[in-house]
Amino acid sequence: SLTTLRPGFFVRGYASAQDISTLLLVERNGNSIAPSTLNSLTAATKLGGEVTALVAGEEPDNVASEISKVTGISKVLVAKHKLYEHGLAEVYAPLLVTSQKKFNFTHLVAPHSAFGKNIMPRVAALLDVAQISDIIDIESPDVFIRPIYAGNAISKVKSKDPTKVITVRGTAFPPSNVAGNNAAIEVAPDADKPSMTEWISEDLQKGDRPELGSATRVVSGGRALKNRENFDKLIYGLADVLGAAVGGSRAAVDSGYCDNALQVGQTGKIVAPELYLAVGISGAIQHIAGMKDSKMIVAINTDAEAPIFQIADYGLVTDLFQAVPELTEKLKK
Ligand code: FAD
Repeated sequence: SLTTLRPGFFVRGYASAQDISTLLLVERNGNSIAPSTLNSLTAATKLGGEVTALVAGEEPDNVASEISKVTGISKVLVAKHKLYEHGLAEVYAPLLVTSQKKFNFTHLVAPHSAFGKNIMPRVAALLDVAQISDIIDIESPDVFIRPIYAGNAISKVKSKDPTKVITVRGTAFPPSNVAGNNAAIEVAPDADKPSMTEWISEDLQKGDRPELGSATRVVSGGRALKNRENFDKLIYGLADVLGAAVGGSRAAVDSGYCDNALQVGQTGKIVAPELYLAVGISGAIQHIAGMKDSKMIVAINTDAEAPIFQIADYGLVTDLFQAVPELTEKLKK
């Protein structure tokens, strides 16, 4: 047991694993579970104690039934209302707080995605506790590991708050298994639904391309692409033959070569695919912060001194306008 592994492990505020109970906020992709939820669940189970999933939406039954089958879930709470459909923090926060008050959860956990990052600080404020963001490991139920300074330092955070409100970096925890479980599903407690914020519309890009945050392969382009036409042709062309998601540096985003949602780095997405191909990207620390945990890093850059080569497993010191079409053609064969 954990107690034998670490003497005194539970002494700091928790008498035993039974004292720990965690609420996992489920992120949906429409009618299915967002992959980040399964990574967060692995973190939640590492806390010890039971994990209750909270699913909310206009028609959340399908997702509730899906999450009830995932290993590690003890119970599913379902909040059905059209106001929950679009992840508005203002309506989700009271739902989490009401659920916490009713069931005395010691830990509230969500993915460190736009969804989780929007909701959890508000929940922490309502509970008057400190928010613990973007954890990459759990040392004990009140000690968490998280990167700071764009991943250049790792800090250990000890929380003395009675309730821990946590967001989880998905790439740091493997996904839980979707199999074999059959957790009980029940209605979530009724909570206030503040009306000061209204969902009006959203503009979502749809496509068959894998999602950047969870893709196994990512091809990213930088400033060297020069314009959007080149970016579309070369980066998307290469990504297509690799079945990869597309990313970009901030310079590429700021110059309008690709969309904001594709930015990889400190102020963009954090990715850790099997293969990360950096094309015409220098490797500034703010970019590296978002992709350094990739299993294999390949860089194409004309400058042999570019910092990206310090972390690349394979490097091609060459002109991308020559190398990328050549590589794409060879991969097609
Ligand atoms: P550059 O640094 O200009 O690099 C272009 C590279 O292309 C060069 O290395 C060059 O040698 C190479 N090149 C040129 N021509 C060719 C060719 N024909 N073939 C091959 N290679 C060629 N950046 C991010 O990416 N993500 C972030 O989240 C992020 N957050 C930031 C947050 C803050 C607070 C700050 C201050 C900065 C942030 N940045 C971020 C910006 C970051 O510092 C860099 O400016 C940015 O990453 C540079 O993008 P780049 O590598 O595409 O461009």
